[in-house]
Amino acid sequence: MTTTATDVAEILHYINGTPSAGSGTETQPVYNPATGEVTGQLRLANDEDLQQAVAVAKAASETWGEVSIAKRSKILFRFQQLLTEHTDELARIVTSEHGKVLSDAAGEISRGIEVVEYACGISQSLKGEYSDQVSTGIDVFSFRQPLGVVAGITPFNFPVMVPLWMAPVAIATGNAFILKPSERDPSASLLIAQLFKEAGLPDGVFQVLHGGKDTVDGLLSHPDVDGISFVGSTPIAKYVHETATKYGKRVQALGGAKNHAVIMPDADMDLAADHINAAAFGSAGQRCMAISVAVAVGDAADALVDKLAEHARKVNVSHGFDEGADMGPVITPASKSRLQKIVGEAEQAGAALVIDGREIVVKDHENGFFVGPTILDKVSREMSAYTEEIFGPVLVVLRVDSLDEAIDVVNANPYGNGTAIFTSSGAHARTYTRRIQVGMVGVNVPLPVPVAWHSFGGWKDSLFGEHHIYGPDGVRFYTRGKAITQRWPEPAKGTAATFNFPSN
Ligand code: NAD
Repeated sequence: MTTTATDVAEILHYINGTPSAGSGTETQPVYNPATGEVTGQLRLANDEDLQQAVAVAKAASETWGEVSIAKRSKILFRFQQLLTEHTDELARIVTSEHGKVLSDAAGEISRGIEVVEYACGISQSLKGEYSDQVSTGIDVFSFRQPLGVVAGITPFNFPVMVPLWMAPVAIATGNAFILKPSERDPSASLLIAQLFKEAGLPDGVFQVLHGGKDTVDGLLSHPDVDGISFVGSTPIAKYVHETATKYGKRVQALGGAKNHAVIMPDADMDLAADHINAAAFGSAGQRCMAISVAVAVGDAADALVDKLAEHARKVNVSHGFDEGADMGPVITPASKSRLQKIVGEAEQAGAALVIDGREIVVKDHENGFFVGPTILDKVSREMSAYTEEIFGPVLVVLRVDSLDEAIDVVNANPYGNGTAIFTSSGAHARTYTRRIQVGMVGVNVPLPVPVAWHSFGGWKDSLFGEHHIYGPDGVRFYTRGKAITQRWPEPAKGTAATFNFPSN
């Protein structure tokens, strides 16, 4: 049965420590992609809501920035504990609105918690530096201070993890944070807000404002927003970076991806096929680090494609709540039909369709937006299946003759988020990791998402701005450095001034 829009709950903003309908009257439906049902009506902010959230954040940032590091850490420790206790609840919300299977939803939450744990130790990152006696009687020290108000604009594919790539570090470093989540799966952000409050975070330090382009534009141009963290598709990342820098803001804008795995003939083919299968089809391929291109070198190709097909046939596509489900639906019917079209184009252009998941029907969920694992072999670099980020469960296989050719293919691609090489040769791995123009590289590891104390970020069209996200770069992004040069003359030993530029 399809639920009508009027039967479902409203999804509110979270402003100044409380859920709020705001004054905007526009709403947008939120779907469960596994059933096709409308599950919520999302309130979209108007300008008044945006002005209110920013004013609250500005006031909150002024007091929060003065709170001791010890107190900030304690709140984050409590937040970590609450997130852990509420993982099941959060995961169910993620599965209901995103579609990914429950264990995968729990996985993204645990990677988000990892960033909270990093932020608990913010005292280490904010220690500053001190140089004694740089000149007679003069010392220099430097430290970092918060920006003030920062906003995070996040994509649908990780509704918990990506907000947690940003907010814990921004808040630990003393900023107030406004989250503008994806309109497609916005509910998890409200539980996150509630848990922050329960952890003791003062009202206004973490807020949630729902909306689309207008809300984003309002944040990008608002004079009281000092920094913007964005994660989403490349065209929007580019737009966000250009617009926010025009308004004088600090911006990190992470974009889309086309992640290649290079498979050498000397690779352990069983391991490679098993891991590439999971990395291509996990979360229905809707991960920014999903492997979407397998580059088979020389003799690797036939064995690899056979083994990939064997694995792909066993993937259990189902509702994310179902026992044993490996993979859920894609996010929208539009996403499904776009993917079907691209696969059709590749087939027509001469690619070999090894596994076709386009018409899969999942029993009892016939209205869900399901697509099964799809493998296209002998794809050429001109086909849309290669040039476009498909963002679904489609793996394309390119065949090349040598490692050099594989490196050239990957480096010629405009994206540079993640990549992996499967090999048993240290020399091949070293050549690849040194020459490849990609921000995150795995060696026999298909999804090289760095742990929280390293930073995450791609190169080329996968990231606009100087800073990667979370970890040490996150701390640098959310703070500004200040250097103090000080002299405390002893009363009896005044130092005469000179007209020369200060030097040693
Ligand atoms: P998206 O770009 O459509 O949306 C991201 C955010 O931008 C959302 O909050 C959305 O409301 C907002 N937005 C959308 N259109 C806008 C516009 N015209 N002007 C201003 N704001 C706008 O991305 P998505 O479909 O939600 O997420 C999938 C994309 O995100 C993929 O391309 C994926 O590769 C990418 N992604 C990248 C990373 C990374 O770390 N590089 C991580 C996750 C997802």
